[in-house]
Order: sequence, then structure tokens, then C-alpha cells
Amino acid sequence: MDTLIARAQQQVEERQDELFALVAKLVALPTVSPPARNTLEAQQFLERQLQASGFETELWEVYPGDPNVTAVKRGTQGDKYRSLLLNGHMDVAEVGDTREWQNDPFTLTLKNGRAYGRGTADMKGGLAALLFAAKLLEESGIQLKGHLLLHSVIGEEAGEAGTRACMERGYNADLAVVADTSGLAIQGQGGVITGWVTVQSPMTYHDGMRSRMIHAGGGIQGASAIEKMAKLIAGLQELERHWAVTKSYSGFPAGSNTINPAVIEGGRHAAFIADRCALWITVHFYPNEDYESVTAEIEEHLLGVAQGDPWLRNHPPTFLWGGRSMIEERGEIFPSLELDLDGEGLIGLADIHRQVRGTAPSVGMSPSVTDAGWIGRRGIPTLIYGPGELAQAHAVDESVDMRELVDYTKIMIAFIADWCNRMKPEFIED
Ligand SMILES: [Zn+2]
Repeated sequence: MDTLIARAQQQVEERQDELFALVAKLVALPTVSPPARNTLEAQQFLERQLQASGFETELWEVYPGDPNVTAVKRGTQGDKYRSLLLNGHMDVAEVGDTREWQNDPFTLTLKNGRAYGRGTADMKGGLAALLFAAKLLEESGIQLKGHLLLHSVIGEEAGEAGTRACMERGYNADLAVVADTSGLAIQGQGGVITGWVTVQSPMTYHDGMRSRMIHAGGGIQGASAIEKMAKLIAGLQELERHWAVTKSYSGFPAGSNTINPAVIEGGRHAAFIADRCALWITVHFYPNEDYESVTAEIEEHLLGVAQGDPWLRNHPPTFLWGGRSMIEERGEIFPSLELDLDGEGLIGLADIHRQVRGTAPSVGMSPSVTDAGWIGRRGIPTLIYGPGELAQAHAVDESVDMRELVDYTKIMIAFIADWCNRMKPEFIED
């Protein structure tokens, strides 16, 4: 077995051109999101690659023009041996003004040990490496006793529910590796949820009524929804400060748990009192929190603020949390992910990383978010571990270190073979 793995890893070294041809093929298909709905061809290409490597595949629509691919290579004793789920997203970030790019973002350019193009770091490099690893495992005749699953999803860049939809379909595994941009660090993450806070007056008044709402003897108990929202924004700032003082999590700078008032919409016209105001907020929370508890805290606090205002007391704000797509619903959720530092998966992966790279991987928390939280929420121990530096993700002239991509492929070949040939704990006799 060790010989077969060493031979497959040697193949990665000798056939790097094939690896970078795969990256080039994926980069050339501009799966930019937004606007999205453009991943079909890339997903079909990936599906064919997986089929050629012994996977059973399914391509199914999440949105028109944006299908997920879910694939499994069945292990020879899948009931007794451990399964591994590999996850990656096919969509890439917008490119902005292409004149700022030194090379065409959709043509892979290899230069000075780096591969340039949109998605090389985030995360078509990672996807290509997984495809090449799958191919070499098949070619080398490395037998897997446990099932190997691969999910190529859509929509990650626009907060869309590609991975969430996979989990809702019921896929399960004993461990998952999300190959998103981590610079070969093993990471967990904090979470993000967006939400709308809305103040709505049941009455619509003309601007001329304002004096009667705010001056002595006016007699109209009305309110500007915009002015009332200002109180709630101040309340959010108090809560944000309270969180910064009272909550912390190892691996994050203090105060990373922010509440950003990102967008405000309110009022009809200068001739009216604003009868509606909606605030779009972005909430960051720590790995040991979930979005249900965090949003409950915000609601409780803002309803408390409303209790202190004679008008808001009777017209409390309403809340709409999350969403399955920034594009369709103006809402997203990225659940958080804790790392099990003593988990067999993490220890096994770190060992193989050390064998290939010569040094231990850094283990910690991503300063960003990925789809990994959805898999962790399903109860699957999950690790973020992929090639490419986060500073390159979404950047002009995005690139990935070619050696890193080669090493990642070698590490994943060995790790897949290692993990999928471990017996499930319930079958191990002691
Ligand atoms: Zn990504």
C-alpha cells in the first residue's frame, strides 16, 4: 500500500502539466458569481472527470444554470470502513475591471512558480487537485475500503445554499475536508448571518403633520420610522460593545464578533413622514456559537430598547434572518465550525502534511468563512484545508503557488488512502 501511494505521489511530480491543464480548463470556464447561473459546463466537465476515475455521479439543479455535482466512489467494505467527504465550490468571485489584470483572468498563466487566473486560489486550484488525486488513486489501483464522496457545489461566493442543499439531501460521512483557500492550514471558522431589522408604522402621514407629532399639544402619537431606527442602531452598537467585552474565542482578535449596519432603506418621499425603515445587518459570531442563539440575543436586546420608547413599545421592530442566497433573497448564513484538536482526522491529516511538506501545518481559525459550517452542522467532523493564500482570494491577478498545489495533491492522495482504509470505531475490537 505504502509503495502504491509513494508511486502515485511520484506521478504527481512527474505529471504536473496534467494538474495545471486541469486548473487551466476550470479557470477558462468563467463561473463568476454574481451574476452566477453559469456553472453548468464546468460542473459537467468535473462530472466526466470523476466518472473516469470510478465515481458514480449525480448532477442536480440548485438554480437554473447552477447545478451541484455529488459523487461517490464506493469503498469495497463501506459499511465497516470510514468514509470521507471532499467539498469544494465551482463559482469564483467577480473580476472587476479586467484592465487592472496583467493577464486575462480566464487564461491560466504560469510564471515564476505561480499559477495566475481567477479562481486559482479560491478555489479551482483546490478542485483541480482533488480531481487529479482521484484520477491517480484510480490509475494506481489504490484500493479504498471506505466510501469517498466528492461534492462540487455552486453559490459559495454569493452566500448561496449549494453545500446546504447537499446536506439537506442527506449525505453523510465520517469526516469532511473542505478544500477552500486556507494556505494549507487546517482551520475552523466563525460564522456569519445577515438579517433585516424593520420598523413599520401602521399610519402614513404627510410631511405637514410632523409638527403635530413632535410639539406640545400636537396630539398625534406618530413617529418617523427613520428616527426610531436610529435608536435601534445605537442599541446594536451597545450590544456589539458588550459582546466585544464579554465574549472571546482562541484564534480570534478580541472584538471579531461584530454587528455591521450595512444597508439602510427607509422613507417614501420628502413629502411624507417615513413610515417604514429597514436595516440590513451582518453579524459575525464565534465558533462556539450558533446563529440561532446569536440572533435571539439581538432580538431580545432590541426589543428591550423598544420597551424604553413610548412609540416603539407599541410598534416593536420585526426581524428576518438569513436566507439561501444573496442574489435571490438578499440574505445568507455561514454557520460556524469548531475544530476538534484531538480528532483522528485532524491528527492524521497533520501527520501526512508533515511527511510531504517537512513541517507541521498551522492549525487555527480562518479569518474568513466557507461552506464548512454547513457540513459541521450536519454532525460531520469537518476540516477546512486547501491550497492558496486568503489574500489572493478575490484579488486582481489572483494566483496560487504551484509547489503548494502539487504538494496538496500528494497530501490528499495519501490522506484519502489512509482515512478510507481505517475501520469505523464500532468495528474495532479492543
Ligand atoms: Zn472559496
